[in-house]
Amino acid sequence: MTERTMVPIFDGHNDVLYRLHTAQEADKVRLFTQGAPAHWHIDLPRAKRGGFAGGMFAVFTPSPELADASPTKPSIYSINEPLPPALPLDEARVMTIAMASILFDLDRAGVVSLCRTTADIQAAMEKDIIAAIFHIEGAESIDRDLTMLEALHAVGLRSIGPVWSRPNIFGHGVPFRYPSSPDTGPGLTEVGKALVRTCNQMGILVDLSHLNEKGFRDVLALSDAPLVATHSNVHRICPHARNLTHWQLGAIRETGGMVGLNFETSFLSPDGRESADTGLDLMLRHTDELLEWLGEDGVGMGSDFDGASIPDVVEDASGLQRIIEAFRGHGYGDELIEKIAWKNWLAMLEKTIG
Ligand code: ZN
Repeated sequence: MTERTMVPIFDGHNDVLYRLHTAQEADKVRLFTQGAPAHWHIDLPRAKRGGFAGGMFAVFTPSPELADASPTKPSIYSINEPLPPALPLDEARVMTIAMASILFDLDRAGVVSLCRTTADIQAAMEKDIIAAIFHIEGAESIDRDLTMLEALHAVGLRSIGPVWSRPNIFGHGVPFRYPSSPDTGPGLTEVGKALVRTCNQMGILVDLSHLNEKGFRDVLALSDAPLVATHSNVHRICPHARNLTHWQLGAIRETGGMVGLNFETSFLSPDGRESADTGLDLMLRHTDELLEWLGEDGVGMGSDFDGASIPDVVEDASGLQRIIEAFRGHGYGDELIEKIAWKNWLAMLEKTIG
């Protein structure tokens, strides 16, 4: 792959901050810069090799009663298990601050650029520095009065998934359940609705990827921003509760919203199983159908790197151009490829965070 043919990727979701936080190595900047362990998905050398130009960097607090909890691990949250219980505020707060501070350290070291606006992302991409949007996956660290939301926004937070796959004061997540409709529980609470309204006012993107269908309907009814699911796939192909039904895809399109293609094999495979030999053909099938339902402006990448089991054919961030090659081979033109690779995310962020 020559430098000339490399298409930059701006990605909807990764969990590398969680990996960095849980790593033994004390110097997280050095770990990220000099190369993380082989089974990780993102570090600086791999980002450079694969054209990973940036994305939403998630801060995630695991449920402590689940040993080895990781942001997406259907093998641990095995199929049809009940949702883990709600997390205490203090615990989530400690974790959120610790993981955010890793992002601040990476920014200070000039390894990534913590971006507050779309213009910041463009500037970072021009300088070839990884552009990071500070995202929270599961808003357990935020109190009912939303004071923490203000504090986090002031230090750069620009995107929130109100729930991960468990309940909290804002709403209810979807379980890792297959086969299952995403209609698995009650909708947003009153505080959840207030959170969405406040995010709209503050220019914080609301991510629907882990929200159940009733919560999704509540956001549709009250949000004035385009609907976004940063890392989800097509339910008709893989009927997992984490994937989006045609009705949901239609609703997202109506609002001018978008969806990031998730690389997690159990959200790609029609049988809902994790399988390292999942092929690019299946990623193309989901992308084709997302394009059909959302249009060319509504589809991006949502790798779930460092929180998911990724097909061997992609392996990690260094393999991103293999997906680009598959798009080319499948007949997507250069313009469409650039939209899916990064331009659609930047356009969406321009409309939501400014
Ligand atoms: Zn997730």
